[in-house]
Amino acid sequence: MLLRFPEVDRRALYPEVSDGSWRDWRWQQRNVIATLEALEARFPLSEVERLGLRRTRGIFKLGITPYYAALMDPAHDWCPVRRQSIPLPAEAETRPEELSDPLGEDHNRPVPAIVHKYPDRVLFLALDRCSVYCRHCTRRRLTGQETTDLDKQTMAEGVSYIRAHPEVRDVLVSGGDPFLLSTERLGQLLGELRAIPHVELIRIGTRVPVCNPFRVDEALVRALRTAEAFVVTHFNHPKELTAEARDACERLIDGGVPVENQTVLLRRLNSSARIIKELNHRLLRIRVRPYYLHQGDVAEGLDHLRTPVQAGIEILQQLRGHTSGLAVPHLAVDLPDGGGKVTVQPTYLVSQSAKESVFRNYKGEIYRYPEPLEGDCSVPYDEVYRAASETAQASASASAPASAPASAPTRPLLNVITG
Ligand code: SF4
Repeated sequence: MLLRFPEVDRRALYPEVSDGSWRDWRWQQRNVIATLEALEARFPLSEVERLGLRRTRGIFKLGITPYYAALMDPAHDWCPVRRQSIPLPAEAETRPEELSDPLGEDHNRPVPAIVHKYPDRVLFLALDRCSVYCRHCTRRRLTGQETTDLDKQTMAEGVSYIRAHPEVRDVLVSGGDPFLLSTERLGQLLGELRAIPHVELIRIGTRVPVCNPFRVDEALVRALRTAEAFVVTHFNHPKELTAEARDACERLIDGGVPVENQTVLLRRLNSSARIIKELNHRLLRIRVRPYYLHQGDVAEGLDHLRTPVQAGIEILQQLRGHTSGLAVPHLAVDLPDGGGKVTVQPTYLVSQSAKESVFRNYKGEIYRYPEPLEGDCSVPYDEVYRAASETAQASASASAPASAPASAPTRPLLNVITG
């Protein structure tokens, strides 16, 4: 089937805007819709949405780029772009089990810019602004405040923390949306991170390719490539994969920047196997790899958007075996209170003994897998390989210049993605 990536049609909402302004990412950010009145001037709201907008005033920001607003369906309340952008009254209600910091990040913040929860990786909070404000945002305690870019000193502290912690080999730069930093500032931060010898992997979490794809220009791609960074995007519905979004992702990929996608499972917006499958097929068509399907976090005001865990498992069951393995993401639950990420999947293992393991396949048929006679899985060559690789590493470090220039990457790209 030929997959179409239609251009966003802005004629109904923004007929007066020139092509040049429309495709200017700064114009898009300057014209973000941030109030009920501004939204209503462009878009026909339902009574419930008006109520939602009034009730959530002061709880969490409204923010929709004109580009993303033009994707909203005025004729249907359940349009997934509309529901991700305009609050419902339920968002103002907090249940006793809901948390303002559902992932327990704040008590793992040794310095303001760093969340250090896992042994070998950290989250670097580069700023607290976003291109849009998603109704399902679980980091709203940070992104919902008055916006301030993290100042130079806070950034420098974050970089120093990583420099002082040799166990950190993976840095996820997020926020907020790091793509809202100027290319120069982002490039400088990435350069400093890349110059730290023990940092192997740099990832950037961003929703910009979804909500303001014009931001992805050649200079940004060059800065990301120079830093050997991965980009992790956040497409939740195939409707968001427009020609503009496709072009943004392709600019990144063609420029040598690998792109992965994380989807949040949102009740009644994308909570069906058909939608997730189509989203992932479209992503793969443009060489973006579907990576995580996230179970909603237990965050304040988001009960109405969360799915039962079983719904995600059933979606996975309808994907596994029925489509390419690359189109089947990991279903991840980020445990409340900082318990960390776990992945779940349908159970295919029926029983296990020393003699055989019994499986059910994707069609529900039973198959027996005979176990080998020997069970020793230690790897005799491990020690040899480790010693040789440590020697090579030590001699490379000894001959490297004292501090590598930020614009001259010296390490190979590592194709490793972790939580
Ligand atoms: S882009 Fe990410 S951090 Fe920003 S509002 Fe959306 S979900 Fe939250």
